[in-house]
Amino acid sequence: MNQTRREFVKTSAAIAGSAIIAGTSSEVLAATYLDKMKPARLKLSYKPYTLELRHVFTIANSSRSTTPVILTQIEYGDLVGYGEASMPPYLGESQESASAFLARIDLSKYENPFELETILSDIDAITIGNPAAKASVDIALHDLLGKIMNQPWYNIWGFPKERTPYTSFTIGIDKPDVVRQKVKEAAEFKILKVKLGRDTDKEMIETIRSVTDKPLCVDINQGWKDKQFALEMVHWLKEKGVVFVEQPMPKTWYEEHAWLTERSPLPIIGDEAVQRLDDVKKAHGAYSGINIKLMKCTGLREAHKMLILARSLGMKVMMGCMTETSCAISAASHLAPMVDWADLDGALLIGNDVFDGTKVIDGKVTLTDRPGIGVKKL
Ligand code: MG
Repeated sequence: MNQTRREFVKTSAAIAGSAIIAGTSSEVLAATYLDKMKPARLKLSYKPYTLELRHVFTIANSSRSTTPVILTQIEYGDLVGYGEASMPPYLGESQESASAFLARIDLSKYENPFELETILSDIDAITIGNPAAKASVDIALHDLLGKIMNQPWYNIWGFPKERTPYTSFTIGIDKPDVVRQKVKEAAEFKILKVKLGRDTDKEMIETIRSVTDKPLCVDINQGWKDKQFALEMVHWLKEKGVVFVEQPMPKTWYEEHAWLTERSPLPIIGDEAVQRLDDVKKAHGAYSGINIKLMKCTGLREAHKMLILARSLGMKVMMGCMTETSCAISAASHLAPMVDWADLDGALLIGNDVFDGTKVIDGKVTLTDRPGIGVKKL
């Protein structure tokens, strides 16, 4: 055998050797992820829970002191993934409707829990609506898969954990002395979100400005009914140190929002107008950006797609929430490294959290290193 031939044989043997090693390691991987788990079946369970709010919470059209939620879990072998549906009553879902929806789901028929797209598309197709109930399964499944892979979702998606923004802290509509008190309690936060949309808007802002010069964002919750008035208010708010305006007018007013966005000195963000993935394209042109919430869009799978689509359209992205335990808040926070603004204070507004997870430290959304969505049951 000449020199060249000898090198060729050696190289071929080496390649064959690596192939054998690669084959062995993928078999080990298969054994770890599938064979070991093969006898296991996904098992969904759920129970109602009522969140007690620290303060009565008032927005443009409603007031309340509790929020009904459903806590879900998906068991697979000896692992458990946790999820949650938060259902502020004005959004139309309830513990009864969510329980009835969840009772129709049979996860035991899926052999491979990694078939996230299939499983969640099937669930979405059961019936229209029920986005929070759907999110409760989506979150629990993501948590479970992260635990099987032993990785947090920010790693699986490739998002740098440290790049999370500060979260805003929400100040509801209230009397001036209560507002001043709430602003003082929010000392840790670097940006405040002010609920507007009643006839006290300027008074609310002046009251807050009498005690702090922190940047503000405002959420009108569709409260303004005139585009010219909206434009005048946006200019006034800019002078008061407001950085963006959320859902100023009714959600169906696309043309009026496009008119306002074109003239506005501040970004105009769509919230009620942007529920799911399909709405992102409609919002493009009418709004500068979107507010993604897991409870509107059926969970992390769709939220991730909305984030990517909005970015590709050059839109701003905000990650929002309802009043939720640290379960749903932690899930949402895994997308936070890629957003412009976070409004993930939902767990801080309640007095009876049942999870430890993502925290707010010095105003910043701070994720844990735990796998899945990073929560631990309290
Ligand atoms: Mg909003």
